Amino acid sequence: MTDIIHVKNLTKRFGRFTAVNNISFSIKKGEILGFIGPNGAGKTTTIKMIIGLLKPTSGDIRINNTDALKQEKELKKIIGYMSQKFSLYPLLTSLENITFFGGVMGLQTGFIKNKCEDIKTRVPSSLLHRKTADIPPGIRQKIALFVCLMTDPEIIFLDEPTSGVDPEVRREFWMEIYRLKKKGKTILVSTHNLDEVEYADRILIIHQGNLILQGEPESLREKFGKNSIEEIFKTAISKHESNQRRI
Ligand code: ADP
Ligand code: MG
Repeated sequence: MTDIIHVKNLTKRFGRFTAVNNISFSIKKGEILGFIGPNGAGKTTTIKMIIGLLKPTSGDIRINNTDALKQEKELKKIIGYMSQKFSLYPLLTSLENITFFGGVMGLQTGFIKNKCEDIKTRVPSSLLHRKTADIPPGIRQKIALFVCLMTDPEIIFLDEPTSGVDPEVRREFWMEIYRLKKKGKTILVSTHNLDEVEYADRILIIHQGNLILQGEPESLREKFGKNSIEEIFKTAISKHESNQRRI
């Protein structure tokens, strides 16, 4: 598989605070990359820099072999992003959100109408006509993902899509992620649920802005001689912290 995204020495400082510290990694075309780390680790900041919503303090980002920091407009067309925070308008219904965002994305009216019909086959109509503030979080996340996929993006960034949703919806979400992979999409999913990244092809662990570990779940298990990702995660963090103390 070829690399579709290259991140090199990426750093973001907010004043004197370093949120992302000199991280480098790549994402292969067609893979599911699980991006894990506790709250405040720097996941959202990293994603926002890659998709062009936040300017890095330093570092390089290449997407499809072009400089992402210079070709923002072109790249936006092939990128889908589902933000961590409530990404739909809470006072609009799901159908109104789909129509609104479809318009913002420059999609044709007929196409948007078809999308509204499409969602009716997946979500009960009564929920689609309710304000998104008043529908269950799992359904809301489903709608948010649907909106993010309306332009059929090649590269998809999902920032904690399963946070606050129940295990069943989480499973459904992962099934959808697999369907996307089958279509050849490249997907980065961030989460702080360690058990979820088992499903990813590769895992990146970020802690206090530092990328402390990356690899395939299976090879990490072998390398650490541990079965659970949670134990691997804990070991990697304590190793990183004792290295920090030595410096
Ligand atoms: P995560 O997504 O892993 O929970 P974030 O990337 O949101 O972490 O945040 C990383 C760190 O950067 C946190 O300590 C957060 O408070 C800080 N941070 C994020 N955005 C800003 C900002 N605009 N100004 C100052 N600090 C920020
Ligand atoms: Mg976040």
